[in-house]
Amino acid sequence: MKVETGWIKDINLSFNEPLIALKDVMYIIVHHTEEIGWDINKTQRFHQDQRGWSGIGYNFFIEENGEIIKGRGYHVGAHAYSYNEKSIGICLAGNFDLHTPSIEQLNSLTKLCIFLLHQYNLSTTHILGHRELKGVTKSCPGKNFNMGQFRESIKTEWPNYKDKE
Ligand SMILES: [Zn+2]
Repeated sequence: MKVETGWIKDINLSFNEPLIALKDVMYIIVHHTEEIGWDINKTQRFHQDQRGWSGIGYNFFIEENGEIIKGRGYHVGAHAYSYNEKSIGICLAGNFDLHTPSIEQLNSLTKLCIFLLHQYNLSTTHILGHRELKGVTKSCPGKNFNMGQFRESIKTEWPNYKDKE
């Protein structure tokens, strides 16, 4: 059982089918919406109505203003082919092929990633951009999102955080 924290907002999204609890989380996978101006509600509607999924595919969503909102939370998501059962998918609103994440989004992503790394006893090497997964050809989370730099920033900008050997 994972502890919910106050800084993760829960807007009680509804899902059409019961969700399955995540068991062995080995990766944190970062995405962008690719669509500019899509917030969590728009993404939820798209995944539910257009894709025909149970509901939003991401575990967590970070709005342009940095607000962290629960999607599927600690349940199996639908965001990365063959990785859904063993990862947490975090989606940032925006298209980072065209622009860059806001400072607020990056700060929130850092905070959420550190929280999850501790929870699952993982190191920063377990944080991957969607495009870093085997077989993925799209640029997600966008060509302006430097994954290597982000992983480094977690270690350097968070003095209390000690990366695993
Ligand atoms: Zn993606």
